[in-house]
Amino acid sequence: MSGEGEERAGYTNVHRAFLQALLSRQTITYPEAKPLLAAIETAATPARLTLVEDVSQQDFDNYIHTLNEHISPFDLEIRSTRHQATKLQVYALVNTTSDALTQMATLRTADEMAFVKRVLDAMFETNNSARAEVMAVNSMQAVKLAKAPNDSAARRESGAGGQTQRAGQAASAGLTLAQAERVLADLVSEGWLELSAKGYYTLTPRALMELRGWLIDTYNEPSDEEDDEDDEEPRERIKFCKACKEIVSMGQRCPTLTCPARLHDGCVRNMFRAQGGNEQCPVCKTAWTDAPPVGEKAARNGGDGRRASTNGNAAARRRSGGATSAVPDDADDSSDTSV
Ligand SMILES: [Zn+2]
Ligand SMILES: [Zn+2]
Repeated sequence: MSGEGEERAGYTNVHRAFLQALLSRQTITYPEAKPLLAAIETAATPARLTLVEDVSQQDFDNYIHTLNEHISPFDLEIRSTRHQATKLQVYALVNTTSDALTQMATLRTADEMAFVKRVLDAMFETNNSARAEVMAVNSMQAVKLAKAPNDSAARRESGAGGQTQRAGQAASAGLTLAQAERVLADLVSEGWLELSAKGYYTLTPRALMELRGWLIDTYNEPSDEEDDEDDEEPRERIKFCKACKEIVSMGQRCPTLTCPARLHDGCVRNMFRAQGGNEQCPVCKTAWTDAPPVGEKAARNGGDGRRASTNGNAAARRRSGGATSAVPDDADDSSDTSV
């Protein structure tokens, strides 16, 4: 009995080395861990060569389990979630007491944190409408968030040479484009953001795990209040998979756009199997066919893609219209005549 307990609690140099690797890389998958653990085990016991294929899922789970027992006094825990795009189980070392934003803030200035908040707002408010749940920010849009909102509005009002306005707004300076790009690159290397092949920033599985509570508190309004009126604003901007209960920032939504049901791509089949093969929405029972995407695909497939091209045309028209009319009319069209 006691011998078995000792064995289970056994914390060896292999565990120590594996934890070191995890500390430096933030997240790991089982396929990534296999060669790592094989190398560590072989180094620990050179007489007995451990091959990559010798490291089973059970071995890996045992290491994680033992590590969790040893790191919990330090408020650390290895948690796992499925990556919404690759569908691989991702293991991340997370801090169980301080929230992720507090951790990020210790490394950043107030202006940098304000920029991070603007990026998150863009993901979960601006780019998360009832029509298109993009929940991602493309790199162009992210860099444009460098300026604090007040700052850019004031500059627009004052035209190109806004020097007279600038004196009074030192309070919300925002960031330069270069600073914003550096913060984004740091957030990627620290494991908070991922940049997709198409140039969209999204939260990593690790960030979704660590920010879960904060995202819900910040972007979901408490329900069950006496507000029964049909508001256009979605009250629940952060939605969860009906199969695995994790946040869906990439996946599918019910074809009935007013229905709150969401599923990860990798969870759809499980859901149908659990429903005895019924390929329908678990909430409203609509047939789950041609389910609209959640994630960056919603920006391309959904309204946004089309809107972007019409916007482009409108902008082009405005530009050419401005060019022709500017010469005769706009010469003394300055606002100070009305003052
Ligand atoms: Zn799911
Ligand atoms: Zn539905």
